[in-house]
Amino acid sequence: MQLKTILNRVQKFKSFVYGSVRLIEGASVPTLEVELQPRLNSRAVCSGCGRKRPGYDRLPERCFEFIPMWGHKVFFVYAPRRTECPECGIRVERMPWVAGKHRQTEAYAWFLAGWAKRLSWQEVARAFRTSWDHVFCSVERAVSWGRAHQDLSGVTAIGVDEIAWQRGHRYLTLVYQIDGHCKRLLWIGEKRTVRSLLRFFRWFGKERSQALGFICSDMWKPYLKVIAKKAGNALNILDRFHIMSHLSKAIDQVRAQEAKDLQQKGYEPVLTKTRWLLLKRPENLTGQQEARLADLLRYNLRSIRSYLLKEEFQLFWSYTSPYWAGRFLDTWCTKTMRSQIEPMKKVARMLRRHRPLLLNWFRARKQFSSGIVEGFNTKAKLTTRKAYGFRTYHAAEIALYHALGALPVRKTTHEFF
Ligand SMILES: [Zn+2]
Repeated sequence: MQLKTILNRVQKFKSFVYGSVRLIEGASVPTLEVELQPRLNSRAVCSGCGRKRPGYDRLPERCFEFIPMWGHKVFFVYAPRRTECPECGIRVERMPWVAGKHRQTEAYAWFLAGWAKRLSWQEVARAFRTSWDHVFCSVERAVSWGRAHQDLSGVTAIGVDEIAWQRGHRYLTLVYQIDGHCKRLLWIGEKRTVRSLLRFFRWFGKERSQALGFICSDMWKPYLKVIAKKAGNALNILDRFHIMSHLSKAIDQVRAQEAKDLQQKGYEPVLTKTRWLLLKRPENLTGQQEARLADLLRYNLRSIRSYLLKEEFQLFWSYTSPYWAGRFLDTWCTKTMRSQIEPMKKVARMLRRHRPLLLNWFRARKQFSSGIVEGFNTKAKLTTRKAYGFRTYHAAEIALYHALGALPVRKTTHEFF
């Protein structure tokens, strides 16, 4: 059997035929070259307008990288024709195995992009003896095709989240679809301003925005303003994940300050290495941590009182009626305001300000668990962290869409996995 037979099975072209296959001796990496020729009497297609046009001349041979096999790099070798088109002038013909001016075939780009979902870009580059830039370029092509072909109908619930980026105080705004039947990353924008979210709604379109029923978000003011204005029919839900993370941040602040105070006053350092004890849910603690926590609870420390307030607040989520949840919230806020612990009071003030939105959680009958946005948040952070190669916003954007966008994949003639 000839290699051509396999090639014709996996990638057959209507107007081109495979010629001879050569093994290139002496190349640094074992290489196969596969010659391509136009089918007899076929006319070239103008790359400008996509119509068959008379030939003009032929360019020198070019190599297009195809999917490697058995440890060999594989290249298509073809001398492109130029067409003389009455509309577009003299143009290089359209070649079905490649798009634009790329030197990698479409099949190879999709192949690399597919692997880049399973491995880091660095690992993909190493495994297939190509460069990080080639992997990036392939993923970028897959993402832009996928974004152009994705179906945006039937989106009724979205979640808005932000993640810190590049360690500094730079943020990315992420918008997810969180419907029961479809969960995916829809959109990414730089910063977390009014304008970031406005850009999302502009992209998403007026009609689709009006059709939104639920939006989960944080208490971040710029977001709330835009949501109220652009998605007037949606119920804005402040989700559990964001609220609990505000409380965790407050406890962290209280604990750090108090540990410093104790040290300065020369007391026993009871608070060292207690960070996770206070941030974890009690049911997630190990036996040893549990004993340690029980010990800590004997002290009347600000950190401990904050911890107890946070644990008490968990009860809020177990209510079913918005009315009683509201009553609980009021009592909790009053109590916290009397605690004289400034970071906790700050959270209580914020919760009071957003009382109606908080109670929307119960009006939506808790159908959106905090798990959805939280899960995406974790994955997004992991994706940006893993990708130390991402110096630019653009690369991070591409990586996030690729990992979380659930984008459609172009159906090629053959699956190469
Ligand atoms: Zn043309």
